[in-house]
Amino acid sequence: MSNASSPPGVNSQPFQVASPSSVPGDHVPMAKPSISEDPTLGDEIITLYVGKKRKKFTVHKKLLCDRCEFFSKAFSGNFQEAEKGEMHLPEDNSTTVASLVDYLYRGSLPKPSVDGDYSKALRLYWLADKICMTTLMDKCLDAIRRNAATFNIHPGPGLIKQIYSKTSSDSMIRKYYAGIVSCGIARWGKEGTRVDEFIELHANCPDFLLDVFRWQLDHGIDVAEALRKNRLIPLHEVVELFGPCEFHSHGEVETCYLKAGK
Ligand SMILES: [Zn+2]
Repeated sequence: MSNASSPPGVNSQPFQVASPSSVPGDHVPMAKPSISEDPTLGDEIITLYVGKKRKKFTVHKKLLCDRCEFFSKAFSGNFQEAEKGEMHLPEDNSTTVASLVDYLYRGSLPKPSVDGDYSKALRLYWLADKICMTTLMDKCLDAIRRNAATFNIHPGPGLIKQIYSKTSSDSMIRKYYAGIVSCGIARWGKEGTRVDEFIELHANCPDFLLDVFRWQLDHGIDVAEALRKNRLIPLHEVVELFGPCEFHSHGEVETCYLKAGK
């Protein structure tokens, strides 16, 4: 199966994350031994068929199920997936699943493109949301925030619409972008022509304006205070006023990955 991604020791193939040729350099070379060489992972292998072209991925069952409750439930009990040891994910993107496999084995996130485009991390966030991998969601969102600060990227209405079409009403990434735009409005003021672009979202993305309004109620005074102290404060630092967990999805009783050191 030359088209498959397999961990070392499985079918005698080296571990390669499936990645379409259209995105060369998507993943950094492995600099140290992979976790997949860990004998405690056992020899049970799960096969995932992803996308309409059924891209094949093979992953250690223990790794997949220990890290992800979605797969743990699917591959236990009387489900067809458990019987066959395989699952079909026709709606998912093979590049994004490759990023997931890479994360599971190496703990790494996809890299942004040279121009700062980081849609790979955004798509991985959506996949993590779908399969309930909270820590991965938090890591992706933090990486998106850092990348936006590095490249000085501000979201436009198109991105907002896309995010709201892919997420549920309690999604923290919605809150993040509502916060970013709220801070932007505070900085743009009456001279900010960009405000009009976002107001137009009321027609097909009304939840966004509602979230911006909520954000202003919760944090508007804090942001205004910060802006008064330093009007040149970078937008993303304004957002960071509220602490590293402000946009994390982990619950209050769960340990944040930043504190766990993972
Ligand atoms: Zn946290």
